[in-house]
Amino acid sequence: MKITAIKGMSDILPPESSVWRGVEEKVRQIFDSFGFEEIRTPIVEPTELFVRSVGETSAIVEKEMYTFEDKKGVSLTLRPEGTAPVVRAYIENGLQAKYPVAKLCYFGPMFRYEQPQKGRSRQFFQIGAELLGAESPMADAEMLILLKNIFSGLGIEDVRFEINSLGCAVCRPKYLEAIHGFMKGKEKKFCDDCQKRAKKNPLRILDCKKEPCRELTEAVSTISDFWCEACRKHYREVRGLLLAGHVPFKENTRIVRGLDYYCRTAFEVLCDRLGAQNAVAAGGRYDGLVKDLGGPDIPGVGFAIGMERLTLLAPLIHDSRPTIHEPMFFALLGSEAEQAALSVIQELREKSLRVESAYGGSLKSQLRRADKLKAKWVVILGENEVKKGVAIVKNMHDGKQNEILMGRLVGELSK
Ligand SMILES: [Zn+2]
Ligand SMILES: [Zn+2]
Repeated sequence: MKITAIKGMSDILPPESSVWRGVEEKVRQIFDSFGFEEIRTPIVEPTELFVRSVGETSAIVEKEMYTFEDKKGVSLTLRPEGTAPVVRAYIENGLQAKYPVAKLCYFGPMFRYEQPQKGRSRQFFQIGAELLGAESPMADAEMLILLKNIFSGLGIEDVRFEINSLGCAVCRPKYLEAIHGFMKGKEKKFCDDCQKRAKKNPLRILDCKKEPCRELTEAVSTISDFWCEACRKHYREVRGLLLAGHVPFKENTRIVRGLDYYCRTAFEVLCDRLGAQNAVAAGGRYDGLVKDLGGPDIPGVGFAIGMERLTLLAPLIHDSRPTIHEPMFFALLGSEAEQAALSVIQELREKSLRVESAYGGSLKSQLRRADKLKAKWVVILGENEVKKGVAIVKNMHDGKQNEILMGRLVGELSK
C-alpha cells in the first residue's frame, strides 16, 4: 500500500522551498533591524497550556487541537499557535529578569484540525513575533510598523492593515453585557456555534462568518461606544504613531480575534489576492496572558504571519545564495576519474561554489543532466584525461572547450 501524507499536511518541494527560504531570510533581516531574537520552543506542549491561554471556549481548544496521551497518560497537544508556548518559555526561564523588554520571534509549524481548503491546512507554518514588557502604545505601533516593513521588504504592497481596540478588563465586560442584552429573545436566530458563544464568549459572535449571524449583529452597538478613558487614549496614541510611521490603516470594530487573551489593540493584515481566506497576518495586545499563565504581571503584544499565504504573495522572492545558480558539473567516466576529481570538487565546494558531480552513466546522459542543471561549466574527466593528468573544461554557453592541467583546475574554475 502506498503511504501518503496526512490530509491537510503538505510537502514543500523545490523550487517552492527556495521561495520559502528566501522569504525567511528577508524576514530574519527585518527582525534583526528591530532587535528581535529568535526563540525555538517544542512543537508539543502540555494540553493545559492552550486550555488556559487560548481559552476553553475557543474553537481551537474545543475542536481543532491535535491532543493525545503519551505513554504515561499525560495529555499533550501539538501547538495550535505560537504565543502561548513563547510566553510559557518566557516565564519558565525567567526572561523578564534578563530582558526588561523581551523581543522574541519564531518560525515553525502549527497544527489545527480544520477542514483543509485553499490557504488553510492542518499543518501550517507561522512566522511570529512577541514583544513582552511594554505597555506603551509605541510597542503596538512598532509591531505594525515591523509588519509593514516585512511586507514591503518582500515586495508586497497591496496589503491592508485593519485595527481595532478590544477594550480592557474594565470596559470590555460592559460591552459583553450589551451583546447579551442584544441577543436576548433572539438566541434561536443565531447559528448553533453562536448560541454556545453567547454563554461563554459573546464577543466571538461578531466574528461569525455565517450570513444570518452577520446580518443580526449589524445592529449591535460597536465596542468603541464602551471603551474606558484609558483604552481610548491608548488607541488614539497607537493611531497617531501609525500615521507617523506611515502605516496606512483602516479602523474595523468587528475585528475581535479568535483567542481569549487579547485586549486593547487587535489587528489584521489582509490581501485581496488571497480570495476568501484573505488574512495573511494578525495579532494584538495580550496584557493579562503572562499573569494568567502563572508569571508576573507583564504586558505583551504580538503577531503571527501565515507563511503559506505569504509565499503565495511573494512568489518572486528566492533565496539569495549566489552559488545556487549555474553550478559546475563534473562529468566523470570510470572510478579512476571519480577518484581523481574528488579532491578538486571538495576544494571548489570549500570556496562555497556549487558543484554537481555525475553518478555513473554514459557521457551523453551526464551532459544531459548538466544541461538540466543549467551548468555553465562542465569538467569532463575520462580514462585518457586521468592518464595525461588533465581535464576538459567545456563552456556550455558557447560550446568551447579547453584542456587544463589538473593542478590548475581549482584556480581556473574559481575565477
Ligand atoms: Zn478599557
Ligand atoms: Zn453564528
